[in-house]
Amino acid sequence: MTAQIIDGKIVAKTLREKIKEKVKAYQEKGIVPGLAVILVGKDPASQIYVRKKAEACQECGIKSEVFNLDETTAEKDVLALIESLNQRRDIHGILVQLPLPGHLNAKAVIEAINPAKDVDGLHPLNMGKLLAGNPALIPCTPYGCMKLIESTAYAIRGKNAVVIGRSDLVGKPIAALLLKENATVTICHSHTQNLAEITGKADILVVAVGKPHFITGEMIKPGALVLDVGINRLSTGKITGDVDFSAAAEIAGWITPVPGGVGPMTITMLLENTLEATYEQENILH
Ligand code: NAP
Repeated sequence: MTAQIIDGKIVAKTLREKIKEKVKAYQEKGIVPGLAVILVGKDPASQIYVRKKAEACQECGIKSEVFNLDETTAEKDVLALIESLNQRRDIHGILVQLPLPGHLNAKAVIEAINPAKDVDGLHPLNMGKLLAGNPALIPCTPYGCMKLIESTAYAIRGKNAVVIGRSDLVGKPIAALLLKENATVTICHSHTQNLAEITGKADILVVAVGKPHFITGEMIKPGALVLDVGINRLSTGKITGDVDFSAAAEIAGWITPVPGGVGPMTITMLLENTLEATYEQENILH
């Protein structure tokens, strides 16, 4: 293997230690950061994510409140809950666990969150600020990807970055963040032609597609930095990424494993965003 492994568990652990210290400093000023998590329905994967988020908050001293709403909850009731949380001084961050049941309009729900409390960074105002190169609260997974690149001391400026996937959650925001760092960015999607030709020129390759082993070793430029965002559960129960890791690791310069790469960063950046939101709302002076 030639590639250096970017270990998300280690990077996340270091960041969480810093988060704990910041929380302690806030507490000394009489401020306890507060996060509200809204879960509608009983989707098993969402239940696990919500539980992990609450546990991570507890570990770092952030107060979390989880609102488990019935699968059939009417949109007006979800919006009313968000409005009440928008008004609460002790709640600095609000997160609605996605996906929502089909009868709810996810866009309307996200837009109801006060942008200052939008710790998932998905409100149109925060997305717009990101695109304008003036990010406020950044979506957690892309934010974590940038921290992983930072951990390698890799110089992004002037490099060819290729992002595969254009979701609001991952692809679009990571492309905007790489652009802000002066990479030359190409975004690929399901209509892209000659994908291997494009990926073969990528100094930085971010893959967020959701298809196991979608990127093969031959598609990677020698020495590239590869971030595998994909999380795919195989029929064996094993979790794997979008990149054929063992083949890619022979060619890439840096690579994130799955699990243990991007995944551990997502919740960590949610904690970081909750602190950011607290800092802004409480006008904390460092
Ligand atoms: P998504 O909304 O389903 O988006 C997938 C993207 O892949 C779409 O933009 C789609 O293109 C593109 N795509 C599909 N087939 C393609 C092809 N043949 N060639 C090129 N592009 C193709 O998924 P997502 O929410 O961004 O998530 C992507 C993956 O990351 C999933 O495995 C998800 O579980 C994982 N994820 C991980 C984390 C984490 O914490 N590690 C967080 C979020 C997501 P079109 O737009 O044209 O359809």
